[in-house]
Amino acid sequence: MSDPQKPCDLCSLPVGIKPFTLAVSGKHLEFCCEGCLGIYQMLNDINEMPAAVADNRGK
Ligand SMILES: [Zn+2]
Repeated sequence: MSDPQKPCDLCSLPVGIKPFTLAVSGKHLEFCCEGCLGIYQMLNDINEMPAAVADNRGK
């Protein structure tokens, strides 16, 4: 499926056999580690669909 020699989209190290993936605006990005994925998201201001929306407004 994925190529272990593919360079990480952040640091260019090979992503290995179990890359961390991120699908954003039609692109499929692969990262060597969770850190790279997180940094990429931070740099690009990407917010994955939140699992739960915090509601602090109360009822
Ligand atoms: Zn990396």
